[in-house]
Amino acid sequence: MRITNHRLEGIDFVPARWTGGTITPEIVVLHDTAGRLEKGNSARYLADNDAKVSVHFVIERDGTITQLVPTNRRANHAGQSSFHGRHGCNDFSIGIEIVNPGKMEAGGHGEALAWWGQVFHNDGKHEILHRQTPEHGPGVWMTYTPEQIAAVCNLLETLFRDIPTLEDITTHWYISPGRKVDTNPLFPLAQVRALVLGRDDPAVIEAEESSTEEPTATMLRVATSGSGLNMRRWPSFNPNVITSIPNGTAVPALRSGVFDGRSWSLVQYDGREGWIVNSYTQPA
Ligand SMILES: [Zn+2]
Repeated sequence: MRITNHRLEGIDFVPARWTGGTITPEIVVLHDTAGRLEKGNSARYLADNDAKVSVHFVIERDGTITQLVPTNRRANHAGQSSFHGRHGCNDFSIGIEIVNPGKMEAGGHGEALAWWGQVFHNDGKHEILHRQTPEHGPGVWMTYTPEQIAAVCNLLETLFRDIPTLEDITTHWYISPGRKVDTNPLFPLAQVRALVLGRDDPAVIEAEESSTEEPTATMLRVATSGSGLNMRRWPSFNPNVITSIPNGTAVPALRSGVFDGRSWSLVQYDGREGWIVNSYTQPA
């Protein structure tokens, strides 16, 4: 895939009625359509409606991508939003809508009721799961298809390769907290960001989530029988060494946790953050 003249080559372009002025895209915002799953339904609506909404790309359940707005023009997908202190994300983002029913209500026998009255089952065609997160609240959600995840990754890799101003990938729930819950909790955001951006490795995120922050940065002094202690990207002995911290060095501990029965700390050293095993340190 390739972006030429702000368009994704070789895919359908259906011009949206609500296409705004020129923008310089810096982030990509991922959404759920929160609507019917039939192919073309959401794309048609997002191309032409009276609600003044639009988006750059729609990804169908079978992985088909449709473009509605050129990547250098404004679309109305984010509404009231802010990203790291900057308000009005439509002015600097590309929006991608993934076809998905959004938040559903639980019925009996594993049923899920969509807001428009349709009932979905765990029937081999649709996978329904209960999930609760602080950002989404409790709900019943439908998994994305493997074709959709592959299409999202391909599209993101193309966008980040061909649009040098792009810097980050986020979701509607992140930029409009309390107001929006898309993408749903089953979207593999950490893996997609790791793949496309080459950072926020899932193992690093897991370590962050299963450790606790040190109330005050405790100082630890490295004390091994060798020349130093390995600082690692995540708390395990897999090949993930960032650097070695020389014996006698005192480093601030930011987080701590127990992983596979060992106590680890996330520390800062030489301008970087990484994990060390506590048993080779002393309080400093
Ligand atoms: Zn949204």
